[in-house]
Amino acid sequence: MQKRHCFFNIAKELTEHVKKLRQCRLCPRMYPPVVSGGAVVSKILLVGQAPGDKEPKIGRPFAWTAGKTLFRWFNEAAGMSEEQFRSSLYMAAVCRCFPGKNPAGGDRVPSPEEVLNCSAWLNHELKILQPALVIPVGKLAIEQFLPLQKLDQIIGRKFRVIRDGHCFDVIPLPHPSGASPWHRKEPGKSLLKRALRHIIKHPAFNFPQHNKGGRYGFSTKS
Ligand code: SF4
Repeated sequence: MQKRHCFFNIAKELTEHVKKLRQCRLCPRMYPPVVSGGAVVSKILLVGQAPGDKEPKIGRPFAWTAGKTLFRWFNEAAGMSEEQFRSSLYMAAVCRCFPGKNPAGGDRVPSPEEVLNCSAWLNHELKILQPALVIPVGKLAIEQFLPLQKLDQIIGRKFRVIRDGHCFDVIPLPHPSGASPWHRKEPGKSLLKRALRHIIKHPAFNFPQHNKGGRYGFSTKS
């Protein structure tokens, strides 16, 4: 009963949070609308980098080619469909708005000021959800939690992080975009597989299709 009560309080707070997040227009160089995966109460937080130009039109994160690769990884590793993934994990990002195109090609990298602005949303999500596992995807997301290192040194490993007095595991993934070949050749291929194995074995990765542990990714063990 206590757990159920707690779930409804968290869901209410998270719904309020997402509603406010969608109204944010703090960064003048960013292109609204804000992209959010919705108020999914979960013990796992996935942190992407920033949406591309397709995501604001479709209205959800990882909605284009990088997303296809990301969801394929989880489908192959855990038999999880895209919709199961989206309804089980909270999908955050370093920046929630499309930064625009870089004149030299590709998407503009968010400025440190924009990353700082948007970190307030991420910090609030960490506070509300108190995740047991954070999965940062891509270098910009990884460096919000771990000191900057080469991907070879951090992918395939699990780290314990303490932030604002809350302790959680961090298992980084490379960015699934086609722009980087890192995850398609060795040692990236094997390290990616190892990282996915760590995620699937994590106690918070406790979903109905694996062990009937309940909806929304709430681990019954934590
Ligand atoms: S990037 Fe983040 S802080 Fe900046 S306007 Fe979008 S939601 Fe707000």
